[in-house]
Order: sequence, then C-alpha cells, then structure tokens
Amino acid sequence: MNGIDDILQRQRCFFAGDFAPRTVAGRLDSLKRLKAAILAHTAEIEDALWKDLRKSPYETYVTEVGMAIEEIDGCLKRLGRWAKPERVASPVMLFPSRSRIVREPYGLVLIIAPWNYPFQLLMTPLISAVAAGNVVAVKPSEYAAHTAKVVGTVIREAFDERHVSVFEGGADVSTALLKQRFDYIFFTGSARVGRIVMAAAATHLTPVTLELGGKSPCIVDASAHIAVAAQRIVWGKLLNAGQTCVAPDYLLVHTSVKTALIEEMIRCIRLFYGEEARLSPDYPRLVSTATADRLASLLEGATILYGGTVDREERYIEPTLLDVASLDCPLMREEIFGPLLPVCGISSVDEAVAYINSRPKPLALYYFGDTKRGRDVIRRTSSGGACINDTVLHIVNPALPFGGVGESGMGSYHGRAGFETFSHRRSVLVSATWIDIKLKYPPYRNKLKWMKRLW
Ligand code: NAD
Repeated sequence: MNGIDDILQRQRCFFAGDFAPRTVAGRLDSLKRLKAAILAHTAEIEDALWKDLRKSPYETYVTEVGMAIEEIDGCLKRLGRWAKPERVASPVMLFPSRSRIVREPYGLVLIIAPWNYPFQLLMTPLISAVAAGNVVAVKPSEYAAHTAKVVGTVIREAFDERHVSVFEGGADVSTALLKQRFDYIFFTGSARVGRIVMAAAATHLTPVTLELGGKSPCIVDASAHIAVAAQRIVWGKLLNAGQTCVAPDYLLVHTSVKTALIEEMIRCIRLFYGEEARLSPDYPRLVSTATADRLASLLEGATILYGGTVDREERYIEPTLLDVASLDCPLMREEIFGPLLPVCGISSVDEAVAYINSRPKPLALYYFGDTKRGRDVIRRTSSGGACINDTVLHIVNPALPFGGVGESGMGSYHGRAGFETFSHRRSVLVSATWIDIKLKYPPYRNKLKWMKRLW
C-alpha cells in the first residue's frame, strides 16, 4: 500500500542509525513530550470520545486520558531502574566471567488498537514500547474515527515520524501492514482477528502479544454482600455501555440470593443513570448501528428482567438484565460486549467452577462472597486476571500485569510488564583473558572426572 513501505523503511534506518531515544534519557524526553501533547489536546480527546461513543468527560478522563498519563508517570519514575542491566551469578565452571541480562529494544514494533477504549488501548502499549526504546507504527481503529484523528494529531506533535508513525484506516491498512516485517506485534481486539495477526506474524517469525476478549464470568455466592456486589457489578458492566473487554459478561448467582441481587442491581441502574438511561449524560452509546442490531438479535426470545429498549438510530440499548434458564442459550455463546447482562441461578460454587472450566479461558473472572472461598475459586480456575469482591479494577493497578491466557490472549503489559514485553532479554557473558583454563579444550583425556566434579 502507498507509503507504508517508505515510512517503515525510514523507521528501520532511523533505528539502525542515529536514534537518540535509544538511551534512557532520550526515551524519558520522548515520554515527556507525549505527556505534554496529551495534556494540550485533552479537550479534543474528550470531544472525540463524545462523538465516537458519547463517553462523558469523567469516563474519558478516568478510563482513557488518566490511565495514559499514569502510565507515562510510572515510566518517568521507574524506567531508569527497569532498564538497568541485571547482574546474575555465574557458575564456577565459567570462571573467570561475569553475566548480565540486558533489556534491549526489539526494533520496529507494530501496535494495532481496537475501538472501545480507542485512546487508552493505543497509548498504553505505545508508552511501553517507547519506554523500551523501540520505533513504533500504530494503527488506530477505524470505528472510532474521531479519536483516531486526534490520536494522529497527538502523536505527530510528540514524535518524529521516523520514531512513531500513525496509519489510519480500516482492515485493509492492517492487512497491508501485516505483510511487512516487524520485530514485534502487539494486537488488541477480537480472537478472530487475533488469529489472522498471529498467522501473518508467523510468516516472519515475529513475536506477538495478543490482547483478546471473551466471556468473563462473575460468580455471586450466597455469602456475598449483596448491596456492594450489585453496585460493583452494575458499575463494571455498564462502564462504556458494556463495551469493555474485562466487563462481567454473565452472572452465575447462587439461587438463594438471586432475587435479592436482581432487585439491588435494578436499584443501582436507576441510581446511576436515572429512570431512563437514554437521558443520562453519563451513559455511553454503542459504537455502531451494526452493534445495536447484533445485541438486539440477542434479545429476541430472551426473558427480560429489566430494560430491553433499543433505539438503533441512536445506537442506544438500555441497561438490560436477562434471566437465563439454560446455559446453552444464544446469550451464553459469544462475548456480549454491550449492556446486556444474563443472570443464571446456580446451586453451588462447584457448579459455577465446572461450567467455567468447560469454556475457553476468559480474560477476567470475578467472585463475590467469602474471600477464602474466592481464593479457592481462583485456584481451581484459570483466567487472564481476577478480582474477589470487585470488577474491572485489577487492570487499574500498574503493578499487576494485564493480559489474557488461552483464548483470551497471550502476553501482558502495564507498568513494568509493558516495558518487559517490548524488550528483548539479551544474555551477555563477559569473560576475562588473564587466565584460560584448559579443562574445556580437547584432548579430553583424563579431564572428564574433573569436569564432573565442577559441573
Ligand atoms: P477487531 O478484532 O474487530 O479489530 C481490532 C483491530 O484489528 C482494528 O484496528 C481493526 O482495524 C483491525 N482489523 C480488523 N480486521 C482485520 C483483519 N482482517 N486483519 C487485520 N486487522 C484487522 O476488534 P474490535 O471490534 O475493535 O474490538 C472488540 C474486541 O476486542 C472484543 O473481543 C474485545 O473483548 C477485545 N478487546 C480486548 C482488549 C484487551 O485488552 N484484552 C481490550 C479491548 C477489546
């Protein structure tokens, strides 16, 4: 595709040549420039996210701009420590030598971003890639077009194009990019496209991180604090109108507390967004009418406990609770990625664990109830991340790596994990020359018994 070849070639040359951000000081300068550009364009970012997803300025700050700024601040504070070569012990048979692990940048990195948190999910990996000293090509999602534009403005203001380049456009642009040779690919999006990305990366043996999605379960046990659980579940589910990769996808609720939980969740929805969520300035819209159609089709034949109003043209679906009698229904097949929450009664936590373990590994798992029991659930299941008595918040702690496992992805980032993801751990052995022990050289006659003693 026009231009891609040239730009990437210039980036490769820049990296191979006089690339100032190779040093830690250079990287810190780049990150400071990025922070300044983000802060200078915050109003435009807010405006773009309002137009793309009708996100409130509050939600935009907390889940998009604020997270990016925090990621930069964390790097500014800790990068010097992370980037230091790590001395490790050398066994006696390697005497006289010293060993260290050096974190070096991969080189040219590709980041492909989705539309649901279109600013943060592009900026956060970009910050880690720059902190690790790479040159980067980014591809924002075409479905959040206003945000893609302002992302381009911010990046062009902060970086030389040979350091960070932006490729706006649709799947055709991703496809053209994926034909090129990169040194690392970081993809966030669906498992379907994740497979395409991984297959393309395999052609060049390029390592990948895949940040995917899936159906994240939420168990509510009989021992749960129902009022707190309802509040935290409704908040985590309706953030960005349910278009959050770590949103609770469905609830498995102990039958003894199911009615109480549903009543309490309905109370919370009204408390957060009023009688009519459509009128709330805090309730976002779906990304497209196609998404509204997909979600509306899931409502057909479903038992609606609350909500259910659809306004296709406005890309609006009311916060909706659904009763699920059988775990085989269409609602339980694919990731919902919208404001519909299926609620299914279970007779025991063991039943929930068995069901979860029969499904692909999710990106997140939530448990509400007794903490000890929650730890046991975590021990008996697998997921990218998890919370006991909360939802979503594990991704906010920069000290916790964020990523999936199995069908929900591979690799992780945020904070140090992000820096490590975009760095190659290079093993370096430095041998002294003042002595050269002959034990390792042929002829080996009579040397084996000595070697065995040392090994
Ligand atoms: P998507 O997979 O449709 O698109 C993601 C990106 O891939 C976009 O930039 C798009 O242009 C590009 N793309 C689309 N088709 C392509 C193709 N054939 N070849 C190459 N690139 C292509 O995902 P989406 O709809 O933007 O996002 C929703 C999905 O992403 C959900 O499954 C969600 O759970 C997941 N997600 C995961 C995370 C995470 O951090 N793990 C975060 C957000 C979203």
